[in-house]
Amino acid sequence: MSIFPPPPRRQSNKIMVGRVAIGGGAPVSVQTMTNAPADDPVGTLKQICLAADCGCDLIRCAVPSVRHAAVFAEVVRQSPLPVVADIHFDCRIALAAIKAGAHKIRINPGNMGDWEAIALVVQAAKDAGIPIRIGVNSGSIKHKNSNDARTIPQALCEECIEYVARFEDMGFRDLVLSLKTPDPLGTIAVNRLVAKQCSYPLHLGVTEAGPEEEALLKSAIGIGALLADGIGDTIRLSFTAPPEREVLAAKQLLRAAGLLRDHPVLISCPTCGRTSVDLEKIVAEINEKLRAFTLPITVAVMGCEVNGPGEAKEADIGLAAGAGRMTLFKKGMPQGTFAPDEAVAALLAEIERMVAGRH
Ligand code: SF4
Repeated sequence: MSIFPPPPRRQSNKIMVGRVAIGGGAPVSVQTMTNAPADDPVGTLKQICLAADCGCDLIRCAVPSVRHAAVFAEVVRQSPLPVVADIHFDCRIALAAIKAGAHKIRINPGNMGDWEAIALVVQAAKDAGIPIRIGVNSGSIKHKNSNDARTIPQALCEECIEYVARFEDMGFRDLVLSLKTPDPLGTIAVNRLVAKQCSYPLHLGVTEAGPEEEALLKSAIGIGALLADGIGDTIRLSFTAPPEREVLAAKQLLRAAGLLRDHPVLISCPTCGRTSVDLEKIVAEINEKLRAFTLPITVAVMGCEVNGPGEAKEADIGLAAGAGRMTLFKKGMPQGTFAPDEAVAALLAEIERMVAGRH
C-alpha cells in the first residue's frame, strides 16, 4: 500500500449497469470480455463464472448477429454478473440485444450506419432503462485529422464528443465513453482530453495490447497513469489470454494504484549479495498463503536485517533475513528470530492473531 493517498477522483456522472454503479464516486469496476464462441452459452457462462470468482464486476459478450440474440438472452438470464452486449455494424443486432435483456450495450456509432437507425437503438435503450457505451478506437477513427499521428488523440476526442452531442440531442445521457488506442501514451493523451470536456464516466483500456506479459505493461502504463490522475471509472485490461487473466491483472492494477485494499499487500526486496536465505522461495510461499487473508495490511519480506526492517518500516509486519535466520518484526520492531523453515509459519501465525484482533 502506498504511503500516499490516492488522488482525488474526477467528478463523473453515475450510471447503473444492472446492480453495478459506474462513475459518481463508485469504486472503479473491473470488466472483461468472454471469448467462447457466441453460439456457445455453456462455454460463455463457464467463463463468466470464472471471471466472477476472480473479482470481475461486469462482463461483455459479443453479439455478432441477430441470430445470436437468443443465445445472448440465455447467457443474460443465467449470468451472475451484469452483461454488456458488444455490437458492431448493424443497429438491428443492438435492438435484438436490448430485447434479450442486455444490461448495457457497447457501440461505435461510426460503424453502425445512419443516425436514423441509431435513434431507434437510443429509444430502445431509453425504454429499457439501460446505458450505452460509446466506444471509439484509433483503428476505426473517421475524423479528418486521423492520418496525422500527432493529432490522433485530438481527433479521437473530437469524434467522441461529436457523437455525445448527437446522443444528447436525442435526450440520452445514460452514457459511458471509451477512447482507446493500442499505444498507452495515446490512450493517456486522449482520455486526459476527454476528461476535461465532459462529465460522463470513462471506461479505460489499452486496446489490442497483445499477449499477457506485454499487454500487462502497456495497460499498467496507460490505465495506471490515468488512474493516478484520478481519471477512470471502469477498466478492462485487454490480453490475448483467457478472460480471468485480465480480471486478476486488473485487480492487481487497482491495488497498485491504491484504489483497492481487499487483502494484504506484499513488499519484498530484490535481494543482493547480502541475502543469506532463499528469499525467492520464501516470498513465493508467503505470497501464495496471503491470498487467504482479507486484512488490508502491508507485509514486508526483506533479504537482510541491516536494511530490511528500516527499509520496510512502513510495513505492518514482516521478516528480515540475517546470518541464516529471519527476524520477525512489527512496525519495524523485532519480535523474535526463527530458522528460515519456521519463519513463514511464525509470520502467518502473527497475522492470524492480527486478524483475530488479539494484537
Ligand atoms: S534489503 Fe538487504 S538484502 Fe534486500 S536488497 Fe536491500 S540490502 Fe540487499
